Amino acid sequence: MKFLKQEQKKYEQIVDKLKTKNIRMTDIRLAIIAMLIKAEHLTTQEIIKNLELEFANVNVTSVYNTLDLLLSQHILFANTFNGKSIWYEIASEKSIHLKCDECGDVIHINPMTSDKFDFNEVVELAESKGIKLDHFKIEAHGICQNCRNK
Ligand SMILES: [Zn+2]
Ligand SMILES: [Zn+2]
Repeated sequence: MKFLKQEQKKYEQIVDKLKTKNIRMTDIRLAIIAMLIKAEHLTTQEIIKNLELEFANVNVTSVYNTLDLLLSQHILFANTFNGKSIWYEIASEKSIHLKCDECGDVIHINPMTSDKFDFNEVVELAESKGIKLDHFKIEAHGICQNCRNK
């Protein structure tokens, strides 16, 4: 897996955090973390499918256990945009999703590369209400260009 510099840093931070908690880093666990750093957000089915390209035997139970473990360590967020499927992604202090309510497409705004949004505005808004922000999750809904053109 080829990482950009920021992605490599994120990956190392996560692995270090798990190591300090004496959590055993198996190949499958490392692969799931790397995959989610690269892919923004994925469903369990997509994670399993990707693992099967890399590993001969993928134990589905251990994939579920890994996802639970990473959720409990606050390394992952679980999102349900349509109330049905769960999308997993690397937890971030700044999470923004734009969803088309017509076709269900979800655009994930990457806080590392997005310059279209001033994240400090949310931090300042929270501070003005006396909240020292830890993280935020914004889910915005609308109709995408494709659906509007139909
Ligand atoms: Zn749409
Ligand atoms: Zn996402």
